[in-house]
Amino acid sequence: MQATVNQDLCIGCGICVNMCPGCFEMKDDMKSYVIEGSDCSTEGCCEQAAGSCPVQAIEISE
Ligand code: SF4
Repeated sequence: MQATVNQDLCIGCGICVNMCPGCFEMKDDMKSYVIEGSDCSTEGCCEQAAGSCPVQAIEISE
């Protein structure tokens, strides 16, 4: 399972980073990025974070 963030949609609210710091990080442009090498499957919070994104910027794929 892999997460991707659409930075064009992300408004930098920080919810995903707070909910799932093992998978998402905020970069200098104040957009969320998936941490390189992180595995959404082992981060139980990943899907929950995606569901909590106010602009549906996070996509989860198998
Ligand atoms: S929850 Fe959505 S809008 Fe907020 S920082 Fe994460 S990806 Fe961006």
